[in-house]
Amino acid sequence: MSAKPKVAFFEFTSCEGCQLTVVDSLQDHPELLDAVEIVQFREAISEKGEDYAIAFIEGSCSRPSDEPKLQAIRQQAAIVVALGACAHLGGINAIRNRMPLQEVREYVYGDRAEWFETYEPRPIKDVIKVDAVIPGCPIDRREFIKAVTHLLQGRMPFIPDQPLCMECKLKENICVYTRGKVCLGPITLAGCDAICPTYGDGCEGCRGLIANPNIEAMRQVMHEHGLTDEAIDAKLSMFLTNQIMALEEAG
Ligand code: SF4
Ligand code: SF4
Ligand code: SF4
Repeated sequence: MSAKPKVAFFEFTSCEGCQLTVVDSLQDHPELLDAVEIVQFREAISEKGEDYAIAFIEGSCSRPSDEPKLQAIRQQAAIVVALGACAHLGGINAIRNRMPLQEVREYVYGDRAEWFETYEPRPIKDVIKVDAVIPGCPIDRREFIKAVTHLLQGRMPFIPDQPLCMECKLKENICVYTRGKVCLGPITLAGCDAICPTYGDGCEGCRGLIANPNIEAMRQVMHEHGLTDEAIDAKLSMFLTNQIMALEEAG
């Protein structure tokens, strides 16, 4: 019997871009393939082993029928890792959560709305206990490799709670606000090497919020840089709908 940790990958509502990033990362780090046994990974193998210790889950939970599947994974796996913004935050799928569900269903499926089972997309932590998160849309290759290395060493992957602006400043980037663009860096979790501002674009918040974001100040800054309330709401909805709705509910 193999002594290597058995690992499985699962996808729920997602584009599978994070799993493709995993495939890409492993091509650069084949040594990790010697250190684990992958028993289920639709992007790479046909086998569907049900005996695993570490489960990486991509995608949001967007149907009631996803819940028992997630619970079964949780029951089997000693460690569950949320892979990417869909699993971590509900992802882009959660944009629709500010609209009435029935309206969304009818917009998408027309007079056949009742044929399709769907509800408000949610992060997997709303359904099962999650032990670690690898954020981002898609995940960062280096962060995935680091997370797997930590897991193999018996440590939990850890994401420091600091804003993207800090990482961006350390790279000596010129702030995109000075170039007439908007950026969610002040409220977004760092760790992606500030890739969007580094290439001249504003951050869209794909890694989720820092622990104590000042949303009002962020709105004020975007307002001062010419965004309407509607445009600000749209900016904050790309990835952050569920987190901001939760903050609003908490008052
Ligand atoms: S987080 Fe982004 S890249 Fe990953 S599955 Fe979701 S939409 Fe795709
Ligand atoms: S570009 Fe964005 S992340 Fe960088 S300093 Fe400006 S606001 Fe912060
Ligand atoms: S800069 Fe922002 S949007 Fe771009 S990858 Fe990093 S967290 Fe995501």
